[in-house]
Amino acid sequence: MYVGDPKDWPPCTRCGRELLYSLHVSLGDGVQLELCQLCDVEVPYAAELVMMLATGLIAAERVQPALTVWMHGAMAARGWYHHPHGERVDEGPVS
Ligand SMILES: [Zn+2]
Repeated sequence: MYVGDPKDWPPCTRCGRELLYSLHVSLGDGVQLELCQLCDVEVPYAAELVMMLATGLIAAERVQPALTVWMHGAMAARGWYHHPHGERVDEGPVS
Protein backbone atom coordinates (compact mmCIF):
# COMPACT_ATOMS: atom_id res chain seq x y z
CA MET A 1 0.00 0.00 0.00
CA TYR A 2 1.43 3.39 -0.87
CA VAL A 3 0.43 7.01 -1.19
CA GLY A 4 1.34 8.43 -4.57
CA ASP A 5 2.67 11.90 -5.27
CA PRO A 6 -0.25 14.38 -5.18
CA LYS A 7 0.79 15.85 -8.54
CA ASP A 8 0.30 12.40 -10.09
CA TRP A 9 -3.20 11.91 -8.72
CA PRO A 10 -5.84 11.79 -11.41
CA PRO A 11 -8.84 14.06 -10.91
CA CYS A 12 -11.94 12.81 -9.11
CA THR A 13 -13.66 10.19 -11.28
CA ARG A 14 -17.05 11.47 -10.10
CA CYS A 15 -16.80 15.26 -10.54
CA GLY A 16 -13.47 15.89 -12.28
CA ARG A 17 -12.11 18.17 -9.54
CA GLU A 18 -8.73 17.91 -7.84
CA LEU A 19 -8.70 15.28 -5.07
CA LEU A 20 -7.95 16.06 -1.43
CA TYR A 21 -6.27 12.69 -1.06
CA SER A 22 -5.74 9.53 -3.05
CA LEU A 23 -4.43 6.15 -2.06
CA HIS A 24 -3.48 3.14 -4.15
CA VAL A 25 -4.13 -0.17 -2.43
CA SER A 26 -2.33 -3.20 -3.84
CA LEU A 27 -5.16 -5.71 -3.66
CA GLY A 28 -6.51 -7.64 -6.60
CA ASP A 29 -5.95 -5.58 -9.72
CA GLY A 30 -5.23 -2.57 -7.51
CA VAL A 31 -7.73 -0.20 -5.97
CA GLN A 32 -7.41 3.58 -6.21
CA LEU A 33 -9.23 5.28 -3.35
CA GLU A 34 -10.31 8.89 -3.81
CA LEU A 35 -11.15 11.54 -1.26
CA CYS A 36 -12.96 14.47 -2.85
CA GLN A 37 -14.03 17.62 -1.03
CA LEU A 38 -17.19 17.89 -3.13
CA CYS A 39 -18.24 14.25 -3.50
CA ASP A 40 -17.28 12.89 -0.08
CA VAL A 41 -18.16 15.66 2.37
CA GLU A 42 -21.49 14.02 3.22
CA VAL A 43 -20.26 10.43 3.06
CA PRO A 44 -20.28 9.29 6.73
CA TYR A 45 -16.99 7.37 6.64
CA ALA A 46 -15.20 10.17 4.76
CA ALA A 47 -16.63 13.36 6.23
CA GLU A 48 -14.20 13.81 9.14
CA LEU A 49 -11.14 13.36 6.93
CA VAL A 50 -12.57 15.70 4.28
CA MET A 51 -13.20 18.39 6.90
CA MET A 52 -9.69 18.10 8.35
CA LEU A 53 -7.93 18.20 4.97
CA ALA A 54 -10.20 20.85 3.44
CA THR A 55 -10.02 23.24 6.39
CA GLY A 56 -6.50 22.50 7.62
CA LEU A 57 -7.99 22.21 11.11
CA ILE A 58 -6.32 18.92 11.90
CA ALA A 59 -6.56 17.32 15.32
CA ALA A 60 -3.41 15.21 15.41
CA GLU A 61 -4.99 12.48 17.51
CA ARG A 62 -7.90 12.15 15.04
CA VAL A 63 -5.84 11.76 11.85
CA GLN A 64 -5.13 8.02 12.13
CA PRO A 65 -8.66 7.05 13.29
CA ALA A 66 -10.26 9.19 10.56
CA LEU A 67 -7.90 7.75 7.93
CA THR A 68 -8.66 4.20 9.06
CA VAL A 69 -12.43 4.78 9.01
CA TRP A 70 -12.19 6.28 5.52
CA MET A 71 -10.00 3.48 4.16
CA HIS A 72 -12.27 0.76 5.52
CA GLY A 73 -15.40 2.53 4.29
CA ALA A 74 -13.99 3.28 0.86
CA MET A 75 -12.71 -0.28 0.48
CA ALA A 76 -16.08 -1.69 1.60
CA ALA A 77 -17.76 0.50 -1.02
CA ARG A 78 -15.57 -1.35 -3.56
CA GLY A 79 -16.49 -4.75 -2.10
CA TRP A 80 -13.43 -5.29 0.11
CA TYR A 81 -14.07 -5.93 3.79
CA HIS A 82 -11.57 -5.67 6.61
CA HIS A 83 -11.28 -8.47 9.15
CA PRO A 84 -8.66 -7.73 11.83
CA HIS A 85 -5.93 -10.32 12.19
CA GLY A 86 -6.73 -12.95 14.78
CA GLU A 87 -10.41 -12.06 14.90
CA ARG A 88 -12.75 -14.88 14.06
CA VAL A 89 -15.06 -14.21 11.14
CA ASP A 90 -18.58 -15.02 12.25
CA GLU A 91 -20.34 -16.67 9.38
CA GLY A 92 -23.65 -16.75 11.21
CA PRO A 93 -25.75 -19.67 12.37
CA VAL A 94 -25.62 -22.89 10.43
CA SER A 95 -29.05 -24.21 9.66
ZN1 LIG B 1 -15.47 14.61 -6.74
